[in-house]
Amino acid sequence: MPDIPNILSLESLQVHFPVQGGLFDRVLGRTLNVVRAVDGIDLKIQKGEIVALVGESGSGKTTVGRVISKLAHPTGGRLLFEGQDMASVQSFSALRRYRHRVQMIFQDAYQALNPRHTVFDIVAEPLRSLRLVENEAQLAERVSEALTAAGLNPPGGYFSRFPHELSGGQRQRVVIAGALAVKPGLIVADEPVSMLDVSIRAQILQVLVDLREKHDVALLFITHDMPLAWLIADRIAVLYLGKLVEIGSVDEITFNPRHPYTVALRNATPQIHGEGARADLPALPGEVPSAAHVPKGCRFHPRCPLAVDRCKTEEPPPMEVGPQHHSACWLAK
Ligand code: SF4
Repeated sequence: MPDIPNILSLESLQVHFPVQGGLFDRVLGRTLNVVRAVDGIDLKIQKGEIVALVGESGSGKTTVGRVISKLAHPTGGRLLFEGQDMASVQSFSALRRYRHRVQMIFQDAYQALNPRHTVFDIVAEPLRSLRLVENEAQLAERVSEALTAAGLNPPGGYFSRFPHELSGGQRQRVVIAGALAVKPGLIVADEPVSMLDVSIRAQILQVLVDLREKHDVALLFITHDMPLAWLIADRIAVLYLGKLVEIGSVDEITFNPRHPYTVALRNATPQIHGEGARADLPALPGEVPSAAHVPKGCRFHPRCPLAVDRCKTEEPPPMEVGPQHHSACWLAK
């Protein structure tokens, strides 16, 4: 997607949390350590593009989504949305516009829905609070449109239902309708299908793909599941311990991964293991270490079966290894 403008750019984005000990340390303002949840990420998303952010638990992917949705604050770097730096914006009107244009879909639809509100009120709420409609007729029209786009047909049949009267898939569709109702430019979807039955997942993924096709919405799809990323995304960005270690087109990352971590993630998924798989690396050992103890050099080296001496002292920068394909590994070139 070469000539399409970026809707979102993250530049050297950082989220560091200070770790303080007891009350004494807090009074003295003493910091014992720093958790580097996100440690300098550069990522661009074009209008209407679907980018999957992939990594294990503890990689920092949810923190990235929360920063983009303004639910967490970055401690460094820039967050540019439609060209405007939103990282430190405090102005009420700018934040209101941003919340209108960037929506988040969470993993647990039941937690995201107010159990005492009807489907109509849930979907209507952001339209009312952002004052995006002028009267009740317009409100009903926008709610109907959003429910239809989310696959709840006929929409009027859901207006007066409560979340407990819906299946898991229907609840996630209501969440999607609520996000879509305000006509956003970007949706951040954090593991949106991981709590759903396999039979429902494909339907919800199709709804998300349709948002791009029919409404030109860009999507940041956060997942630990490589096959899902492969199914839905245009590009895949792989995150490890707060850093992007590889990024490229979905086919490049899936069938020509160059970073040992990406290879290990990919080899762990039987659905895509058969075609073009590299069998030269063993399964991924251990777990992501704590972001309070980021190793020197390449942060993947304690788990990497290919690590050489240089990996323990020098952190590899992202290197171009193919068309729009970058990998942060000394051996990737
Ligand atoms: Fe492994 Fe070294 Fe590459 Fe890091 S730089 S992924 S440790 S080979």
